[in-house]
Amino acid sequence: MEINKLYILPELEYPYNGLAPHISEELLRLHHDKHHAAYVAGANTILQKMDKSRIENTDFDTKATFKELSFHIGGHILHSLFWKNLAPIGEKVGLKSTMTIKKTIDEEYGSLDRFKKLFSQTAASVEGSGWAALTYCRKINRLIIMQIEKHNINVYPSFKIIMVLDVWEHAYYLDYKNDRGKFIEAFWNIVNWNEINKRLENIMANKPLSSC
Ligand code: MN
Repeated sequence: MEINKLYILPELEYPYNGLAPHISEELLRLHHDKHHAAYVAGANTILQKMDKSRIENTDFDTKATFKELSFHIGGHILHSLFWKNLAPIGEKVGLKSTMTIKKTIDEEYGSLDRFKKLFSQTAASVEGSGWAALTYCRKINRLIIMQIEKHNINVYPSFKIIMVLDVWEHAYYLDYKNDRGKFIEAFWNIVNWNEINKRLENIMANKPLSSC
């Protein structure tokens, strides 16, 4: 079987109206089917152009091409993580005191509230388009909060991402207009702590992660 060496837009694991009222069906459809899809298509177009230039033995502008490629791949990977670290409100995905993520947050941030405050401030202070991300550094075994500009600037190389929050305007404008803070507040209602806990435990155990 030939391996498809292109990116594929992942399906959501919940219905489009599953995150309402915190993220409306209309906004989620637009965000997933248009914005995320555009990053997948953008990356694949460049990869196919590179394949063509290899076959035809022609050159291309490496600086511009790889800059654009990293933008699209970053967008694709971050959105894939984002959909998975969200979930409809429910018992299954709630934060439990027995979870490793809860214990680790308490240990390193003092309390869940303090962590939420710091993460929210990180998301609120992203200049222009970007993300807030919770990562883990295996060298020093600590959770580290990271701010991502656009899809790829400010990134700590090799730190594994546990949770992300998209604060590009396209992620909230339709529902919240320019009130990014209100969107960040709503985000905490639809966090999939189960998935986040699983990711942290896998990183701590050095197990391979499902995404890239
Ligand atoms: Mn987005």
